[in-house]
Amino acid sequence: MKKQFAVIGLGNFGFYLASGLFQKGHEVLGIDIDPRKIQEIRDLVSSAVLADATDPQALKELELGKMDAVVVSIGSVLNSSILATLNVKDIGVKHVVAKAVSDAHGRILQKIGADEIYFPEKDLALAAAQRLDNPNVLDYLPFMAGYSIVQLTPPAAFIGKNLIELDLINRLGIQVIAVIKAAPENVVMIPTGNFVVKKNDILVMLGPDDALAGLEEKSN
Ligand code: ADP
Repeated sequence: MKKQFAVIGLGNFGFYLASGLFQKGHEVLGIDIDPRKIQEIRDLVSSAVLADATDPQALKELELGKMDAVVVSIGSVLNSSILATLNVKDIGVKHVVAKAVSDAHGRILQKIGADEIYFPEKDLALAAAQRLDNPNVLDYLPFMAGYSIVQLTPPAAFIGKNLIELDLINRLGIQVIAVIKAAPENVVMIPTGNFVVKKNDILVMLGPDDALAGLEEKSN
């Protein structure tokens, strides 16, 4: 379903977020204080407007209240990020997402009412650390405190066994949520107990970090 989004601050993160949402078929309004950013993104979003998000009046004119979500992607200038987030909250936007560059920044954004906070650099750095630490971990996504979703090549001991035999859920609290098959390329979502693990499968698993780390060490 087509949604309406506004992205305030079209630096790296904001630029790719806004153009990515537009590519997915949504209506996207890009907002930045820098005319060059507006010029750059003009053809890649529904509309792009030059405005200072720290000015409540300038934002009011943009009818942000009707948006499904507004993302404040101003990282480097802390007071602008805070003021812009406050202004967007004051307008009564349903869902306000804000980008934070540090934990302290994130705490402030939470206190002033941001509904969701992204830490793109931190999350990407943690994922990169995980991937470099163990190249068999193909993807890593922090889930809730202490839990992650990882994509892993199966440890040798898994191959040829079905999920009932492996019993990961009872032994380790790990749920296999999907399996990516190489050839023919397809994804088996929420595989059932009789699913047999093959050598070239990629297992997508949700579970406690320590249990997943144990599997990562054993993976091929
Ligand atoms: P990134 O690290 O993702 O590139 P930056 O924090 O460097 O993010 O980019 C912030 C963007 O926000 C820049 O394009 C900047 O021009 C824009 N910006 C900064 N202050 C404001 C403001 N008050 N109103 C609107 N846009 C702003």
